[in-house]
Amino acid sequence: MDTKIIILDVNNIARDIINEAGQVIKDGGLVAFPTETVYGLGANALDKNAVEKIFKAKGRPQDNPLIVHVANCNIENLVKEVPNIANEIMSKYWPGPITLIFNKSELIPDTTSAGLKTVGIRMPSSIIARKLIEAAGTPIAAPSANISGRPSPTEVESCIEDLSGKIEYILGGEKSQIGLESTIVDCTCNPPCILRPGAITLEMLKEIDDRIYIDKSIMSKPKKDFKPRAPGMKYRHYAPKAPVKIISGDIEKTIAKINEIVQTNMGNKKIGIIATDETKDKYPYGTVVSLGNRKQLDTVGRNLFEVLRSFDAIDVDLILSEAFEEKGLGYAIMNRLKKSAGFDITLRIGK
Ligand code: AMP
Ligand code: MG
Repeated sequence: MDTKIIILDVNNIARDIINEAGQVIKDGGLVAFPTETVYGLGANALDKNAVEKIFKAKGRPQDNPLIVHVANCNIENLVKEVPNIANEIMSKYWPGPITLIFNKSELIPDTTSAGLKTVGIRMPSSIIARKLIEAAGTPIAAPSANISGRPSPTEVESCIEDLSGKIEYILGGEKSQIGLESTIVDCTCNPPCILRPGAITLEMLKEIDDRIYIDKSIMSKPKKDFKPRAPGMKYRHYAPKAPVKIISGDIEKTIAKINEIVQTNMGNKKIGIIATDETKDKYPYGTVVSLGNRKQLDTVGRNLFEVLRSFDAIDVDLILSEAFEEKGLGYAIMNRLKKSAGFDITLRIGK
């Protein structure tokens, strides 16, 4: 299939291009598009045949549901009911990087919800995304626009790498501002529960209701018979080709440990190091990439997936990463890093 690729000027979004891409969605085709979290791979959320194409293009497991993207807060026809707490979260954080889970209405096909009785809905703040949804005249189901298992794309080049030739249209325009997928909050239970951490943090949600909590299972390796509340939790994710090891604890000891591992393995392995601006000059060997300044976790979050992808391009054999404190945005960053490492190989040094 020929894929049409258009990079939009964010400050002057071309109406005719948005309309053309919207028409592709209306006609049951697939469009990759930017959002503030990561790039999405979109189809008409209400058309089961269109949604099936997303699963095929990504190689996505059939039991992993999609998030439905909307352009405004009028979601009544998509869900059975909107609990008060969901209304409060929506009025405070929509449009923005947070997905809410509701009991779904008959309008949402089972393919979109992967057989669940619930549906995840989000209103993105990205103007291109919202204009596309409006032009399509329908909610857009969109998981991240990567081949299943790979780190999510935050730049159009990564979408092109993964999906060119497999879908009708790729819209580029802006690097994703946040770079991590949306926070997911299950509003079908009381109190609501965070199923995936993201840029809208636990601390921010507790301002609305301090009973909101994080599902315990999201920071540990799932057991074999684990039935996750967010099915995506059970899959290996965000994974570059090479194994990832996270070294956590005191930063000076972390640096020493990483250098020790690099020196021991240097003879037979090409090693990538995920460092930060404060530490990057302290690694004499290996391919060192900085995620940014430790005091600016938003930059670290924005860079994480492309840094993981960059190690694929240079074919390293092993990736060693520094860790971040698991609070605020650091919680979401560590969740993605741990998933990319397969959870169970974190080396804790001291503290
Ligand atoms: P992606 O956008 O590729 O990160 O995929 C969407 C994520 O949202 C997946 O991990 C799903 O498990 C999660 N998700 C979507 N809908 C639901 C739902 N109804 N219940 C729980 N999790 C959901
Ligand atoms: Mg994904």
